[in-house]
Amino acid sequence: MTAASRFPGPHWWSSPFRLLQTNLRETDATLDASRAVDDLLSLGYDTWLCNAGGIVYFYPVDEPYQRTARTLAERPSGDLVGDVVNAAHERGVRVLSRFDFSRLPADIVAAHPEWAFVDRDGEWYTEDGLTAICPRSDYHEVRVPAILDDFVRRYPVDGVFFNWLQYPELAYSGAYKGVCRCERCRAAFQLEHPGHAHPRGVGDKGYDLWLTVALARLTELAERYSEVVNAVRPGTPLMLADVRMDIAFLETNSALGHGGAWWPHTPSELAGVNRISDPAVPALVHSSVNVGLPYRQVAEEPAQFRRYMAQALSRGALPSSVAVGLADADRFPCLRSGADVLDFLRGHHDLYADFEPASQVALVRPRGGTALSAMQSRDDFSEYRGLYTALQEAHIAFDVIGLQHQEQLAHRDVLSRYRVVVVPGTEGMGALFRRALDEFVRAGGSLLLTGEAFEAGHRDPRRGARRAPEDTP
Ligand SMILES: [Zn+2]
Repeated sequence: MTAASRFPGPHWWSSPFRLLQTNLRETDATLDASRAVDDLLSLGYDTWLCNAGGIVYFYPVDEPYQRTARTLAERPSGDLVGDVVNAAHERGVRVLSRFDFSRLPADIVAAHPEWAFVDRDGEWYTEDGLTAICPRSDYHEVRVPAILDDFVRRYPVDGVFFNWLQYPELAYSGAYKGVCRCERCRAAFQLEHPGHAHPRGVGDKGYDLWLTVALARLTELAERYSEVVNAVRPGTPLMLADVRMDIAFLETNSALGHGGAWWPHTPSELAGVNRISDPAVPALVHSSVNVGLPYRQVAEEPAQFRRYMAQALSRGALPSSVAVGLADADRFPCLRSGADVLDFLRGHHDLYADFEPASQVALVRPRGGTALSAMQSRDDFSEYRGLYTALQEAHIAFDVIGLQHQEQLAHRDVLSRYRVVVVPGTEGMGALFRRALDEFVRAGGSLLLTGEAFEAGHRDPRRGARRAPEDTP
C-alpha cells in the first residue's frame, strides 16, 4: 500500500479518467496552456500528463544539476508548470507532472561521476548528450527527494509520473548496455547473494537474481518518493511502469523493425494481465499517436489507434495517448479517430468504474514479463501466442495470467474463478503456483497443458542453454 492509497480521502484515480500526455520538446516551453487545454478537452480527454523536470525543467529551478528548457525564459511567466496547472484546473482538467531522473546532461554527470550508470563493459553510457544515472546513486537517494518536496510545495498537481524509474539496460538507440556495475550496485548484489559473480546482462548466470535486487531497489525508491510527495500533498498518486504504485502505466506502440517480436494484441494482454493481478490499481494502456518512438513524424494509422484504445477498454484498462510535442490533430488524425472511443468510456463511466472480468477460461503467459520485455530479451512466446490467437478467433472469452504476478495470484486464489486453465509452458513457474494448479484440478477445474509445458528446462535456441527449473512439474 502506497502513501497515497493510505490516505483515507476519495481517490480520484479510482474512477475512470482519460489521460493525454504531451511529451514536450524544449521548444514547446512557450506553448499556449489555455489552448492546449481546449484541444485536450475537444479530443475527449480530461487529464493532462505534462513535463515538469528531471532532464530539463519546465519551471524555474536553480541548483547546478538542474537545467531549464531552452525556451522557458521566453514565457512571460517563465513558468510553464504554473501556467499549465492554472489553465487546466480552471477547466476542471487534472494535471499529472512528469519527471525523468534516468539521465542527465553529460557535463552535469562529469561533475558527479559517482551518479553514473556503469554499463556491462565498465563504461558510462551517453547518447545524444545525456548520460544514464544509476538508481542507487545519491542523485536518486538524496537529490530527487529534495526536488520532489520543493515541487509539490509549489504546485498543486494531481499526481506525479516517473518516466524510466528503471535500470536502463536498453539505450534509446537499441544498444544493449546490460546490468549496472557501479560500486554500489555490486556491493548491493554481493550483500544479497554473497559469492555470486555480478552478471553483465541478460542470459548471464545470476541475471535473474539481479532482477530481484534491482526491482527491490526501484520499489524502495518509489515508496520513498510517494512518502515525500504525500507528506506535503496527502492523496497524490504516483504512476510508473515497473513498480506497481497507485496507477499502473503500460505502454504499447506499433513498431517498425521488430519483426516477429511485435504483437498486435499487446494492449489487450497488458490490460488483462494487470486487471487480473491488481484489480484495485487502475491500469493505463498508453498508445502513441506516432509509429513507435523512433518515428515521431509518422502518424499512427487511425484505425490501428482506435483498435489499441478499444482493446484496452474491452479488458477494463484505461486507454491513454501520448504525442511528442503538442497534440496536433491535423498532423496526427488518429487523435480525432480515438475521440469516440473516449466518448464511449465517458458515456458508460459507471459501467467501467465497476468493471469485473468474468471469463471462465484463463491462459497462462509463461516466463512472465511484458510484451516490451519480450522484445528486449527476445524470448520465444510463439506457443503462448498461438493459443491466444486460437482462443480469440474461436470467440472464447479468456483472461491472461501473467506469471510475473504468480505469487499474489496464488495467494488470492484467482484460479478458482475459472473452469479451464491453459498452460502453454512452465518456464518461470514457481512451486507455489504449481500447487495452486494442483488445487485447481482437485477442485474440479480442467487444466490443458500443451507442447512446451512438457519440456522442463527446455532450450531456447536463440539464447542458448538455460538453467533448468529447480523443481520441475
Ligand atoms: Zn549502479
